[in-house]
Amino acid sequence: MNPTSRASAAHLVRRLTVLVPGALLLAWPLINGSPYILGLGIAIACYAMAAIGVDFAFGRAGLLSLGHGVYFGAGAYTAAVISQHSFTTPALVLVAAGAAVAAVLGLLLGAVFLRVGGYYFSVATLGAVFILASVLRGNTSLGGAAGLAGVNRNLVGQTPSTDANLYLVVAVVLALLIWSATSFGRTRMGRALTATREMPTAARVFGVPVFGVRLRAFTLSAAIAGVAGSFFAVYQQYVSPEVAGLNQSVQFLVMNVAGGLGTGWGPAVGALFIRGLPEVAAPLRDYQVLTQGVILVVVLLWLRSGLAGGLVQLLKRAQGALAARSLSTGAGAAPAAVRLPVRRVASSVLEVSGVTVRFGGLRAVDEVSLEVRSGRITGLIGPNGAGKSTMLNAISGLQKLSQGRITLDGADVSSLDARRRAYLGMSRTFQFVDLAPALSVIENVALGTFRTTRSGFARALVPGATRAEERRVAAQCLAALDMVGMAHLAHSTPKSLSAGQLRMLDVARALVSEPRVLLLDEPAAGLTDPEIDEFADCLESLRDDHGIALLLVEHDMRLVQRVCDHTVVVDAGRMLATGTPAEVINDAAVITAYLGTGVAS
Ligand code: ADP
Ligand code: MG
Repeated sequence: MNPTSRASAAHLVRRLTVLVPGALLLAWPLINGSPYILGLGIAIACYAMAAIGVDFAFGRAGLLSLGHGVYFGAGAYTAAVISQHSFTTPALVLVAAGAAVAAVLGLLLGAVFLRVGGYYFSVATLGAVFILASVLRGNTSLGGAAGLAGVNRNLVGQTPSTDANLYLVVAVVLALLIWSATSFGRTRMGRALTATREMPTAARVFGVPVFGVRLRAFTLSAAIAGVAGSFFAVYQQYVSPEVAGLNQSVQFLVMNVAGGLGTGWGPAVGALFIRGLPEVAAPLRDYQVLTQGVILVVVLLWLRSGLAGGLVQLLKRAQGALAARSLSTGAGAAPAAVRLPVRRVASSVLEVSGVTVRFGGLRAVDEVSLEVRSGRITGLIGPNGAGKSTMLNAISGLQKLSQGRITLDGADVSSLDARRRAYLGMSRTFQFVDLAPALSVIENVALGTFRTTRSGFARALVPGATRAEERRVAAQCLAALDMVGMAHLAHSTPKSLSAGQLRMLDVARALVSEPRVLLLDEPAAGLTDPEIDEFADCLESLRDDHGIALLLVEHDMRLVQRVCDHTVVVDAGRMLATGTPAEVINDAAVITAYLGTGVAS
């Protein structure tokens, strides 16, 4: 066997060790056939769906929703209300309607909740639970506290479906959902959603519409809870205000946390465990809330990656290196070169004129003007607190200007936000690297490709639909990592990197976005001398071979002297001197400003 087919055979075996037990587990209620087990299976499958819905909001985006019962309840009540008016509407239509109502509710409430943000977001989701509960209890046309009986159970056609048929449909929908939710994490939108939680600043700088992505995720998460709720109503043929209650909401959350956050399939394991455990250990039935509390504490203390994480560890041990490679390049794919623009003619790309940034009474940047040309490295130097990082924030759109003008390729971008500037070709690194510890190195770098790739939310939910794009992204990220000497670390976690390597990760992420202008904030901090030499080669290649316009904020004067063609010195927000590195270093004002910090030495 050649290495490629051996690799794909190993991949198949790895898949089967997960798929076969999973399929058997799903099929078990049908094999067992007892009405009790089938009913329990349907209930657990509905909970699993709702918990997967919560995972899109909480597990992936960190949106702590304490009120997913609202969307579950909206789905359930939609099914019940339609059934009151039409005894023949098939249950699958009820489920579709339930999902639609829950999605609209999620979209409207999400648009409000996401604007308040932070803890208030959670409080608002909780508030919705109480409001809906009082609406449901008080409204006689919705059955009041007693609820509504008589939900249609005919899945298609007109005869009521058996438990076995209902379970079959629910299990298939759940299986598809698990597949979709799990592969979502490996797509452009999946990574962007995680980025909005883990590295919101970097997400904006690389063009992610943070609010829009989160709102879509929240809407989707509500729609999934709606599907779960309407299936639940069809199974029970009865709804009451409890389906939308706080208990229910907290239970979904516990299932998400216990199963594994941001995994897609973990919440299903969580649901099985939390709803299944009291069935196996009968005495626990009377202590459901207590049991759930204990499980939650155990997971939070000892199993941070949830039951899913624990299972993956077990499997890894059982079969060596199971770890599915994050962002796989596919068997035999050669790393594609990063498509950096090739422009050898020096021209002005970025012009900053008279920019001032005030923080209260402090002028952190005070009427600074500079020009960044392609094929040239411009150094921005000055002592700590001089306003260099604030300048980069102002240029990249993270900081509002108090005064002045910034143009990119002649167009005024002063009033554009960071995301729009990213789309015009602006990229940067950070003095304090903003990255996602939960993602691998290559996945962190992949954020840089957000603006050069296209696949949206809908395609991210269809397993395999973005495979070609993912391969291209992976190859580009590998090439960018290779440029900074880190290709061998692509599948490591950021936790295992040195300070210098983290900076190079940051540089690779900026490079892979194919920038027109690249802003670097003290990239050499933490690098060893040989690493600085290698990095200098890399910068020179970017300037000479690709004609990128570079603005380098740097403390290491050796690097500045070696690579910068032009330097701007700032102190206390004001420009002190401009010229070649050799010229400014001998400037009397510069020597005074730096006295004791070593520039002249
Ligand atoms: P440098 O990067 O040159 O070391 P900075 O741009 O980080 O300097 O900071 C310039 C000045 O602005 C410092 O005095 C700093 O304390 C102040 N500053 C920076 N950011 C803020 C902020 N968000 N709010 C208030 N003051 C700030
Ligand atoms: Mg700084």
